Amino acid sequence: MTTNKMAEEDRTAESAGVSCHPDDDVSGDYEPLKKKSKLDVQSSKQPYKLEERLNGILCCAVCLDLPAITVFQCTNGHLMCASCLSHLLADARLKDESATCPNCRCEISKTACIRNLAVEKAISELPAECRFCSARLPRSELAMHEGELCQERRVPCKFERIGCPWEGPPHELKEHEKMCTHPSKPAADIMDLLDVTYHRQEDEMRLYKNIFNLLSLEKITFSDLQLRPYRTDDYISKLFYETSRFSAFSHQWVVKARVNDNQKHPVHSPDRTLTYQLVLKSKLPSTPMQLQYVAIEGPYTNTHMNPAIYKFDFSNEATETDYQLLPILSSVECNKLLAARSINLRLILFQLQA
Ligand SMILES: [Zn+2]
Ligand SMILES: [Zn+2]
Ligand SMILES: [Zn+2]
Ligand SMILES: [Zn+2]
Repeated sequence: MTTNKMAEEDRTAESAGVSCHPDDDVSGDYEPLKKKSKLDVQSSKQPYKLEERLNGILCCAVCLDLPAITVFQCTNGHLMCASCLSHLLADARLKDESATCPNCRCEISKTACIRNLAVEKAISELPAECRFCSARLPRSELAMHEGELCQERRVPCKFERIGCPWEGPPHELKEHEKMCTHPSKPAADIMDLLDVTYHRQEDEMRLYKNIFNLLSLEKITFSDLQLRPYRTDDYISKLFYETSRFSAFSHQWVVKARVNDNQKHPVHSPDRTLTYQLVLKSKLPSTPMQLQYVAIEGPYTNTHMNPAIYKFDFSNEATETDYQLLPILSSVECNKLLAARSINLRLILFQLQA
């Protein structure tokens, strides 16, 4: 019995790809991975279930989690979740190296790595625990269960907007709302809270009103820009992005972008941001040119950005704006941009009349 189990363990480890075949180890300096030790820990526990062993086999080689949606694999079949793959590609871009699979060191890229649908489907069938009621159900049903069906999920009190902090399972909600003290509070007590909400909404409204006002200006233009990666010729070269020249309002322009606002070693930081600068490349007549500009997601791209309007008065002495934040929603989104061959943006320019 014990011998059988041992043999089974060996097979599991092998099919997990944690022990590569000797000819898989391209570079010869194969490092044992964290995943191997995780599997060892799991398999030393008695008794261990098939689903636990599958977790070890189907997990991402980088973060060791089970990928939530898309699973990619290197040309040798090692699995990676989409965000870890973008992160590896982004890091390689920053270091000016080619990206390699952490398991077998083969080269990885957007085109070399393919999706593994069988693994994606297998993961969606694996059971996961509901964080509220601890019921075990297939991963594909978990979001629906935790969000809408679970009897122990957390729901807020309907007087949340006037400051009730209560949160609890739906079956206690009615009783709480009957007893909730917030609706009987004097209006003076909830004014501060309403002010905070009001100001937040007002800021948002101001931004959108501003954009709509700009859209009524006489001189508007937009350009769909492709920012390509280049490296500085410093001793330690740095990644930056630049578009080719484009024309707007009868002048020539260029947009440049850099990672983590020129931080020395952005590759050491888990936070990733991009900042960009608009540069005037042609001579202006004697009067300065007042511009406002906003960068938004380009067509056929899938980058989520919040709009942010910036302003600059261009003259023949002032031809470059400061580097302004490109308001990408998260570091994960930013890595996706760095992993791609180029960054596509739509830049809308508004010229203010003097
Ligand atoms: Zn991962
Ligand atoms: Zn590999
Ligand atoms: Zn539940
Ligand atoms: Zn309440």
